[in-house]
Amino acid sequence: MSKRVAVVTGGIGGLGTAICKQLAGAGHTVIAADLPADDARRASFADATAGLDVHFMPLDVSDFSACGAFVRDVQDAHGGLDILVNNAGITRDSTLRKMDESQWEAVIDVNLGSVFNLSRHAIDGMQARGFGRVINISSVSGQTGNFGQTNYAAAKAGLHGFTMSLAREVAAKGITVNSVSPGYIETPMTRAMPEDVRSRTIASVPVGRIGAPEDIARAVAFLADDASGYIAGANLPVNGGLFMSF
Ligand code: NAD
Repeated sequence: MSKRVAVVTGGIGGLGTAICKQLAGAGHTVIAADLPADDARRASFADATAGLDVHFMPLDVSDFSACGAFVRDVQDAHGGLDILVNNAGITRDSTLRKMDESQWEAVIDVNLGSVFNLSRHAIDGMQARGFGRVINISSVSGQTGNFGQTNYAAAKAGLHGFTMSLAREVAAKGITVNSVSPGYIETPMTRAMPEDVRSRTIASVPVGRIGAPEDIARAVAFLADDASGYIAGANLPVNGGLFMSF
């Protein structure tokens, strides 16, 4: 196995931390890119990743030029950027009738704009080195829609179009682009759901439980593997059977 350099956006969040640990455990150097965090949050991430080759770098993924500077810094410090996991995401839920422009724009900019911002800057280096893995974290909401999430579902569905199009552009260059669509996973994002909605949702999962961040991290590491080079433009749902399609 080759030791690769991986960037995980939203890397110190619920899923991000598990993804960083899984990729570092697979032998890669991992950079967790996330908004500037207070000491307590940084310390808790450092504890969770102790002993692993994981580094934190502050970044606002919705800022195009900051993403350019970030990619150059990673390439200068580590010799390249091989695996890009676009995981940063936010929710600003509201029915459309009550949604204001700022809720729409924030979710589109962070959840979808960021994927352009980082991929645009990382792709040339991947192409020059003849290897790359871009993995976009979407959501079951981007496949089914979800009440109160026109903004979030639009951004997450948009990721699939981006994924398939970029996959076609770079497949012949040793670069694969795929997405992973989590269902309901135990993280701060889902702990913030109203308790009645949360328990109803969990009861509807065929596997019979809420997902663990490690369930998603396994899927990401699988797609990131050198040996996964024949999977291109695919979406891997990891949702306990909540939604099935082909
Ligand atoms: P989380 O809130 O724990 O983590 C999200 C991380 O993104 C946070 O660390 C946050 O600081 C970071 N972030 C937010 N805005 C940012 C910005 N502008 N620049 C850089 N970083 C930023 O949430 P999570 O549950 O770990 O979600 C991770 C991804 O998985 C998201 O894209 C989310 O939409 C997706 N997802 C989660 C679930 C779930 O059930 N938890 C389900 C489907 C999809």
